[in-house]
Amino acid sequence: MPEFQRPNCRICLDWLDGSTNVVVTSCMHVFHDLCLDRYSRSSPKCPACRSDISSVQKILFSTAAFTCSESSEFLLNTVASQQQKIEAQQREIDILKIRALFRSSTRYAAA
Ligand SMILES: [Zn+2]
Ligand SMILES: [Zn+2]
Repeated sequence: MPEFQRPNCRICLDWLDGSTNVVVTSCMHVFHDLCLDRYSRSSPKCPACRSDISSVQKILFSTAAFTCSESSEFLLNTVASQQQKIEAQQREIDILKIRALFRSSTRYAAA
């Protein structure tokens, strides 16, 4: 199962990419500009390491359009394997129902 790691913002947990302004603190932690701005109104410390923030610099990413064909294939595989699990459970439920029917009919037969 492939696993992807993407940088995110510690404050809002959303991705860091070229679509929103991103800043780096003097302790080298990276956040959304707006998130850190809002956060620093309540605390002057870094949300990640609690260091005093002496400077904040804007980061400029070079970005390119990204289509995740690999990851859509991964999602389709996940859907297929989940479907199989559901079908297996459905079969189990059917077997249990049959057993329950069988038990109740033998009980009636015995009574
Ligand atoms: Zn954020
Ligand atoms: Zn920090």
